[in-house]
Amino acid sequence: MPSFEDLGLSGPVLRAIARTGYTEPTPIQAQAIPEALQGRDIVGASQTGTGKTAAFGLPIICQMQPSTRVQCLVLEPTRELAAQVEDQMNVFSYYKPLNVVLLHGGVGYGHQIEALEGKPDVIIATPGRLLDHLEKGNLDLSEVKFLVLDEVDRMLDMGFLPDVKRIIDQCPSGRQTQFFSATMPGAIQTLANWALKDPIAVEIGERRSPAETVSHAFYPVGMDQRDELIVALVEKTGFESMMIFTRTKKEADSLLARLQDIEGTRPTALHSDIKQSDRTKALQGFRDGTFNIIVATDIAARGLDISGVTHVINYRVPENPEDYVHRIGRTGRAQQEGDAFTILTADELENARSVEHFIEQKIERRKLEGFDYNYTALLEDNPTPLRKKRPPAPKRRKR
Ligand code: AMP
Repeated sequence: MPSFEDLGLSGPVLRAIARTGYTEPTPIQAQAIPEALQGRDIVGASQTGTGKTAAFGLPIICQMQPSTRVQCLVLEPTRELAAQVEDQMNVFSYYKPLNVVLLHGGVGYGHQIEALEGKPDVIIATPGRLLDHLEKGNLDLSEVKFLVLDEVDRMLDMGFLPDVKRIIDQCPSGRQTQFFSATMPGAIQTLANWALKDPIAVEIGERRSPAETVSHAFYPVGMDQRDELIVALVEKTGFESMMIFTRTKKEADSLLARLQDIEGTRPTALHSDIKQSDRTKALQGFRDGTFNIIVATDIAARGLDISGVTHVINYRVPENPEDYVHRIGRTGRAQQEGDAFTILTADELENARSVEHFIEQKIERRKLEGFDYNYTALLEDNPTPLRKKRPPAPKRRKR
């Protein structure tokens, strides 16, 4: 693996990296940074937790020149991700101070307008609020030299495609564009073809595989005992920090209420009906250990950098197997060990098979010792013989 110096990064950025304690580049950084420093457009596919933010942030900071106009725009799907990228950009620009402004919905306009009047160099934004500001004439993107579209598949899932296109249209064509998406379905490929010029593709590892340090298990149970089992699992599992994913906000709220009764747990919740200030508090509290469990809908599943999550529990098997990989991407990050448990009920067998096919790995069925199970055929040994494994998808050429 090359060193950060070998990648061509300059003094102030190297000094900032030294402060972070990173000793060597991650694979995506080693691949993307030299190309980005040459001014190439990048299209990247990478698992969460691979150091993507530094992969795009470091070369941009290196290339930025003093200016009084917005030079860099980073679009993120969620407020939490945008805030996380803002923090990282401030860390990376420690010795080359930049005015980084965060724009997202759910908070008032006053502070954002004031911040925009302070001549930002870098804007980190979610698409909706950015467009509001553009429409009100609060900022101008005509001098943007660096555009980053992060978690593009997520932005599209959230219906941001028209907004994203309108924003890109306001950026000059001579910009450098970096585009990151965990998956590349047709609509995203079309957007990439339109937004990027002769991009270099970087892809790290198998796009489908979750972190190798995670151990997986399904916990089969009758539907009537799903809540009881999850409570027992939480009680019996020695965890330091746990994320529990539910399908709906209602499930998250009712599970939170149940967990509050367990001794030793300090749970909180994160979903889109919770007001922004409370979402920030929940996330901050989970990061600093005030809370040791966060119950979340998918809004929190992607890209959030929360270190030290020891356990991820899926309250239900995700309907979309990609979501499984993203959710369990919260644990086993940065080479730490992690456990991912998924409660499995009879109506979810098809989804369970899809997950196993998607990650090309059979997931162990486990019973929780000492739990008083009602009978379900699911508890028989190997009740779901796997269909013959599909041949693996052709690998994209690694650079
Ligand atoms: P990201 O994929 O950008 O969300 O980064 C995931 C985590 O990896 C963050 O906590 C980063 O601070 C950390 N990270 C990024 N690059 C490196 C590196 N080269 N060495 C160690 N940790 C890193």
